[in-house]
Amino acid sequence: MGKSYRVLVAGGSGFLGSHLCERLINEGNRVICVDNFCTGREENLASLLQHPRFSLIRHDITAPIDVEVDAIYNLASPASPIHYQKDPIQTAKTSCLGALHLLELARRLGCKIFQASTSEVYGDPFLHPQPESYWGHVNPIGLRSCYDEGKRMAETLFFDYHRVHGVKIKVGRIFNTYGPRMDPQDGRVVSNFIVQALQDAAMTVYGKGEQTRSFCYVDDLIEAIVRFMKTPDFVTGPINLGNPTEYRVIDLAHQIVALTKSPSKILFCPLPSDDPKQRRPDINLAKQLLDWEPRVPLEQGLMHTINYFEREIKSPAFS
Ligand code: NAD
Ligand code: UDP
Repeated sequence: MGKSYRVLVAGGSGFLGSHLCERLINEGNRVICVDNFCTGREENLASLLQHPRFSLIRHDITAPIDVEVDAIYNLASPASPIHYQKDPIQTAKTSCLGALHLLELARRLGCKIFQASTSEVYGDPFLHPQPESYWGHVNPIGLRSCYDEGKRMAETLFFDYHRVHGVKIKVGRIFNTYGPRMDPQDGRVVSNFIVQALQDAAMTVYGKGEQTRSFCYVDDLIEAIVRFMKTPDFVTGPINLGNPTEYRVIDLAHQIVALTKSPSKILFCPLPSDDPKQRRPDINLAKQLLDWEPRVPLEQGLMHTINYFEREIKSPAFS
């Protein structure tokens, strides 16, 4: 076990945040989770709530926060299109004001800060696969803009705090990640399809399902974030973090039907506006700078996730 740090994880009760908190605790650190629980769930932290090195602060990062820590991870933001579009102004505020407040804290403390950015900064990309040098193709006034442009503004603030104040930043552009502890009702494709298949319900494929995504298993993603945070200060990113194996949404639906042995049929539904047609990370930079690449193949990751949702669906809390 290495040196022990005091770490703040904003958004720590969410899907990715809870896995990150667990990993940081297992490495011997003290973890302060800050969350407003808009999409996070306390049950995600079940294994940590009684831990002596873990504490939880209910706080909205659109307001300033002052704690004494050695490192900050900013994962606070709804990530599912359904959730981030429900209150788009709050989503934009979370990205912009949240980044501002946490960067101010990092500046005062002189500590490193990780930003959970996203492949959405590339929008509906013309360049495929997407390298970090690509500036993207983003609609600034559409339904996804609160999230996409919010995350782009957050990246801008991170790089300006780095240039102006010398803040030690780590900007990771996360591509679609899945795994246990996704909220069964948050509307993302992997959780929707698995829950539908397990309940023998229709599989809601949007459009013709020809659009592509590249799915990264959560353990691989957390490993990348932890490695990134340990890089020397000059490694700022942005670095793409994701799995470069690309699938059509329709093929994902068929694969989940096969793995769950479900009788579910495909139901084609309208394609949401501005839904990116293709998405695959170029991860050469992550390979080179983090000595990292994903290890968990889709089928294996899906089986772990299916097992998780099977238990969730049987629990009394699931309605
Ligand atoms: P999630 O919705 O499960 O978790 C987000 C967490 O942030 C929740 O616990 C939520 O309550 C909290 N939060 C939201 N607004 C907040 C605020 N104003 N103040 C305090 N807490 C707030 O989503 P996730 O999949 O775990 O995503 C985590 C981060 O990673 C997000 O920033 C997201 O944009 C980014 N990301 C995720 C993916 C993915 O595929 N999972 C892809 C790209 C980027
Ligand atoms: N999708 C789908 N059916 C669903 C949910 C999503 O076909 O029930 C599609 C969606 O249109 C998108 C892809 O799956 O093309 C990924 O959607 P998700 O919301 O998981 O993430 P996004 O990458 O769009 O942010």
